[in-house]
Amino acid sequence: MESVLVSACLLGQAVRYDGADQFCNHPILQRWSREGRIVAVCPEVAGGLPVPRPRSEIAAAADSMSVLAGTAKVIDASGRDVSEYFIRGAGRARELAQAKNIRIAILKDGSPSCGTSVISAGTFTGTRIPAPGVTAARLCQAGIRVFSEDQITEADAFLQTLETAD
Ligand code: SF4
Repeated sequence: MESVLVSACLLGQAVRYDGADQFCNHPILQRWSREGRIVAVCPEVAGGLPVPRPRSEIAAAADSMSVLAGTAKVIDASGRDVSEYFIRGAGRARELAQAKNIRIAILKDGSPSCGTSVISAGTFTGTRIPAPGVTAARLCQAGIRVFSEDQITEADAFLQTLETAD
């Protein structure tokens, strides 16, 4: 049976920077949960950051691949360089996925870690840009298909394709 890596905050775990969750009540997530497919991860907590924590953004004009390559930074709202936590968390998410032969992830869009299609622009002004977060980029690099919480139906169709092919 195919397992699915899912952002912990989408499952109701209060791991966001502000101590809240981002519970997603999608029926497919509920079915996957009943089927025992879901593997939860919060990359920022896995990387060593506490809850709550200051909001962080990938530095302006940089991208996740540059962060992973060590040539760009993730900065929190106080100006602290938190790149090492984001890189470590992305690595832990990838290790977890690979240890369980996971080929699909559902990640919370908009996050500097889990964002799949948009992230904040690094200006702490609410401006967003089309780009993946650090963990999403790391998982894609490892060949894992990443979907947002708005693409769960597409992810389920992909999952069924994988299981039919196996
Ligand atoms: Fe949710 Fe990902 Fe942010 Fe953790 S790092 S709170 S799982 S979006």
